[in-house]
Formats: sequence, C-alpha cells, structure tokens
Amino acid sequence: MSKRVYNFSAGPAMLPEEVLREAAEEMLDYRGCGMSVMEMSHRSKVYDRIIKEAEADLRELLGVPANYKVLFLQGGASSQFAMVPMNLMKNRVADHIVTGQWAKKAYQEAKLYGKANVLASSEDRTYSYIPDCSDLPVSPDADYVYICENNTIYGTKFKTLPDTKGKTLVADVSSCFLSEPMDVTRYGLLFAGVQKNVGPAGVVVVIVREDLVTEDVLPGTPTMFKYKIHADNESLYNTPPAYGIYICGKVFKHLLGRGGLPAMKEYNEKKAAKLYDFLDGSKLFSNPVEPRDRSMMNVTFVTGDEELDARFVKEATANGFENLKGHRSVGGMRASIYNAMPMEGVEALVEFMRRFEGSV
Ligand SMILES: *Cc1c(COP(=O)(O)O)cnc(C)c1O
Repeated sequence: MSKRVYNFSAGPAMLPEEVLREAAEEMLDYRGCGMSVMEMSHRSKVYDRIIKEAEADLRELLGVPANYKVLFLQGGASSQFAMVPMNLMKNRVADHIVTGQWAKKAYQEAKLYGKANVLASSEDRTYSYIPDCSDLPVSPDADYVYICENNTIYGTKFKTLPDTKGKTLVADVSSCFLSEPMDVTRYGLLFAGVQKNVGPAGVVVVIVREDLVTEDVLPGTPTMFKYKIHADNESLYNTPPAYGIYICGKVFKHLLGRGGLPAMKEYNEKKAAKLYDFLDGSKLFSNPVEPRDRSMMNVTFVTGDEELDARFVKEATANGFENLKGHRSVGGMRASIYNAMPMEGVEALVEFMRRFEGSV
C-alpha cells in the first residue's frame, strides 16, 4: 500500500481519496465498456452521459440558474484572461481590480485588446489586503468589472463583491470555487481552473449568462476562443479534456454526497479557523494579511526570518507535510487547505507547527 501525504499545494492540489480510488477501479474498464474513459470517443453515448451528468451535478451544487451556460473548456484559467476580453470587450473598455498576480496578469492581457483601467489595487502593500470597493470610479463605458475573487498566492479573498454600479461582474474564482455557496446571479461570467479545488489541471469551468454569449466578438477571435461555439456545441465542439471532465464529475458527486456547498463551507471554516487561531496565538508564526480579508483556502504565514522559514519547510516535508513553501514571488509559507484537505491534516500541521515553535 502506498502512503499518502498531506499535500498543501496551491495547485494541482489534493483530490478526494474516494474519487481517486473509484477512478482507479474504472481505469481499465469503465462500467463494462471494456475501455478506459481516456480511450473513449467523446461522441459516444457513454461519454455523453458522463459530461451531461457532470454539468447537471455542478448546476445542482452551485444552483446555476437556467439562463447561465456551463462550459467545460481547456487551456486552464489563464486562457480566460484572453477569452474574456475577446468575447466581452464590445466597447473595448474593461475595469480591473488588481489584488494579486493572477489579477494583474488578467489586466495585462486585457490591455492587448482595448483600454483596461485599474479601478483599485492593493499592490502598494504587496497585495496583503482587499481594497475598499464600495464606491469605485467605474467607467461609464466599461464592458465589465473584473476581479480575482480569491488570491491564491497572497491568501486574501473578497468577502463582499465590489459595487460595479450596474456593470457586468467577471470573476476568476479558481481557488475558491465550490468551497462555499455563491450567488451566481451576481456575476455575468465566472471561471475556475479546476486544479485548485475540483480536478485535474487543464480543464477550466466557465459559467456565463446567456445574453453575454454572442457572435459579436472582437475581430480576429479564433473559433476556439468563442464562448458561443462551445455553448452551441455543449462543450463538444472539438475533443474536450474528456478524462479531466470525468474526474470533475466525480468530485461534483462527492461534494453533493457530503451535503453540498453549505456543508463544505462549514467544514472549510473550521479548518481555516484552526490554522488562523493558532497563527494568532503564536509567538513565532504570523499571518501577513489583513484579518478581515483572510482566505479560507490559502493560508499564508511567516516567521520573519527567511532561514527559519526554509528550515520549517524542510522539516515539515520530512514529516509528511508537503508543498508548504510560499509562492516564489512572496516567500514564507502557504498552506492551501482546499475541500479535499481533511481536518486531520490541518490538526496535524498545527501540532507540528506547535512543536517546531517549541524547538527554536
Ligand atoms: C492557479 C490560478 C490561475 C492559473 O491557472 P492555470 O490553469 O494554470 O492557467 C489563475 N487564477 C487563479 C486565481 C489561480 O489560482
């Protein structure tokens, strides 16, 4: 038997063990088909059921209204940095709130297609907080307001959505997707690269309001980058990332079985509180972000001494706590505690941190 570690990676990240076991069982022969889902035609009846069921389960989990399309695309979350402006920047004006590196990358990409404005930013304090977005200077001709809702690298999250003054809200929700309930109707479009909380890297889920899916896209937009072509073909315009979608489908069912998103929220809040409470009481470790903006998924911490940070990461790894090193741009440590990280993993980490603190 192989030994599984507590993997605190920001992504690709842990998946539910039950899902991995089920996939392993079905690897050579998917439910009597005599072939793996990896080998199957995406036009087959069997695969059609897999993708339709995945969509239906996701709609149920998140309460996606009927006037929203659910698309399973490829190219990861980063492809959306271009796909969003190509499809939605009708006036060639987009307002961006820059709260971290992913938000900044999306902003820089949008500039390739039109006028991208920075409405607010937290770059002045290394993205350690979410700016006040209650009264933003939204551009009268903006096609949309763009946010990255949970900042994976810095460990911050929008607890209230910005007031977009009637403009369409577009959100990158990659690292908080399905961690708690969300009101889809507040968004014109949201997307999530699934490797943070849902499935294998490469797949990106896009949920977009029907009226935003039109033929009226920027000139030169490649066919594969049009939402409409994928919406019209129910994500089967070309060969989709079929195996990845199959695993996502299993994760959706797994989450429904655990009581859905309200139950996940409760569980995730407990895990995050365990870690933040420890950090707040610690004399060695501290969490460098504004407390009210703390992410429930990505918990960053530092000792204030780079050498000690490195020693901590090394000793943690030796003890079965993997990938605790912070993002290369910020240093320190980061524990990503997505849905599939069990409470026991967080408890064991806190215990290990307590012992480490006592030993230095
Ligand atoms: C990881 C991440 C991305 C990039 O995802 P890719 O699938 O690698 O393109 C974008 N946005 C956020 C918030 C992320 O956490």
